[in-house]
Amino acid sequence: MSRRLAGKRALCTASGQGIGRATALAFAAEGAEVVATDINEAALKALGREAGITARRLDVLDSAAVAALAGEIGGLDILFNCAGYVHHGSVLDCSEEEWDFAFDLNVKSMYRTIHAFLPAMLERGGGSIVNIASMASSLKGIPFRCAYGASKAAVIGLTKSVAADFVGRGLRCNCICPGTVESPSLDQRIAAFDDPVAARKAFVARQPMGRLGRPEEIAEMAVYLGSDAAAFVTGTAMVIDGGLGI
Ligand code: NAD
Repeated sequence: MSRRLAGKRALCTASGQGIGRATALAFAAEGAEVVATDINEAALKALGREAGITARRLDVLDSAAVAALAGEIGGLDILFNCAGYVHHGSVLDCSEEEWDFAFDLNVKSMYRTIHAFLPAMLERGGGSIVNIASMASSLKGIPFRCAYGASKAAVIGLTKSVAADFVGRGLRCNCICPGTVESPSLDQRIAAFDDPVAARKAFVARQPMGRLGRPEEIAEMAVYLGSDAAAFVTGTAMVIDGGLGI
């Protein structure tokens, strides 16, 4: 069977672990030439040993570094924007600094990479941008996800805006809205609760399917959106959530 991303060049952010790592591996397994980036250099070192993957340090908070990498590696077929973090709390628990940081890492990072990489993508005739949003966004209000949900709603807005502006130039832009997914950062957040066993049960119970998602399941959706099979798909917020949004 031919590989679904054969001949494509992809850049992935936040690929050191979780959804980003699974997606970089899935892109490479499907034949893409992948530049996998993160700030965690130990994780990158391991990833760089995988076939089809070149690992590079990239802090998506650093506009100059993003622009420099775009200048260096040039045109892409797929830009996968995965960096993001969860601020836990209601609006009353969220300081201005925490709010600004959530928007910087969760949304402005995507503005930075799209701004830097899109011109060369357009020169090559377009491509596919895939952003990671969340069910906690404009799709669903989830308790104690104020800054997170607001920033992920902005990711959906950014996605639709880019899709609308460049739909006539061969460029597709979509986002993925996962429910709760197994990842090292989820494990850390669970461990921080007074009763981690009860906390884990509550995270699992959010999905009517009674389990967490697997990073590989989100990666599969990213492969689809990056591939030519999704040639008629743009501006969407694709849900993959174990029924959280039912
Ligand atoms: P994670 O949170 O476990 O890992 C995040 C990665 O981002 C780490 O490798 C970290 O080193 C990297 N990172 C942090 N700051 C960075 C920076 N400034 N520049 C570059 N890389 C940086 O991974 P995850 O839980 O799979 O989350 C990945 C994405 O998926 C996030 O955008 C998250 O909001 C979203 N998401 C996760 C879930 C979930 O339940 N895990 C659900 C919905 C959406």
